[in-house]
Amino acid sequence: MTPPASAIPAPVTRFAPSPSGPLHLGHGYAAIMAHDAAYGDVGGGGGRMILRIDDIDAARSRREHVASILADLAWLGLDWDGDPVFQSHRLARYDAALGRLAAMGLAYRCFCTRAAIAAEIAASASAPHGPAASRYPGTCRGIDPAAAAARAATEPHCWRLDVAAAVARTGPLAWHDAALGTVAAAPLAGGDIVLARRDAPSSYHLANVVDDADLGITLVVRGADLVDATHVQRLLQALLDLPSPRYAHHPLVLGPDGRRLAKRDRAAALAALRDAGGDGPRLAADLHAGRFPAGYSLGNP
Ligand code: GLU
Repeated sequence: MTPPASAIPAPVTRFAPSPSGPLHLGHGYAAIMAHDAAYGDVGGGGGRMILRIDDIDAARSRREHVASILADLAWLGLDWDGDPVFQSHRLARYDAALGRLAAMGLAYRCFCTRAAIAAEIAASASAPHGPAASRYPGTCRGIDPAAAAARAATEPHCWRLDVAAAVARTGPLAWHDAALGTVAAAPLAGGDIVLARRDAPSSYHLANVVDDADLGITLVVRGADLVDATHVQRLLQALLDLPSPRYAHHPLVLGPDGRRLAKRDRAAALAALRDAGGDGPRLAADLHAGRFPAGYSLGNP
């Protein structure tokens, strides 16, 4: 029997921008979707939205972009619950999760440079195309852990997940997506993803699953460009005994050229529209209703 609507707990969502550049219309749309799922009619009201600042990449994250994100959300008339959560304040949590995966024998140190990985892929008998063309070929997977630990004292390295071993341990997994229904997780396609980078103490995937669990997120509302990421994030949740939230991947805002927006699309920057005297709440209402400024549209990447 379906429980009455009042018995279904209101969702806890999050908006999780990276402060590596200005927010654009696509980010504004994502923020509105997450906000609406938490507080709007769709979510039945009474939910919560958390603002998470994805700033583990110290080289690319800038304080002025954080200030601009806060100003953009205020301009759009969007609020959230509690203080913003900064990933850079939570590195010990990610490190503990990495330690767990390493203790399970599922994480290994990788000493390959980007150039070495590209050369190895290019030199392989049948140089792959498509997603496989950037998939890590597993070069360091077989290094004895003691030898790798000794090398790590002097050689820069990242940590990778042994995805095949991880899948063998968890068995088949799935997640639920409001747009896609029940999706079977297929994490092997992404190869041995990075868990902790040589220049950053965690990867997006690891930090993201730890945070979604710690913050009690029950509904992840984000762009369809992150569907691929969900496959391996679902795997990490299972390995770390974390609950799997529901997902709602929404279409992306496309620019006048029909391509998804990027930081280089300055005309689409919310700060530019704000500085030009635009009406934030009106833009928010338009985006909410699926009305986009001339030339922009919604589509799938
Ligand atoms: N920080 C990520 C981004 O800006 C989004 C992470 C997420 O929503 O899972 O692409």
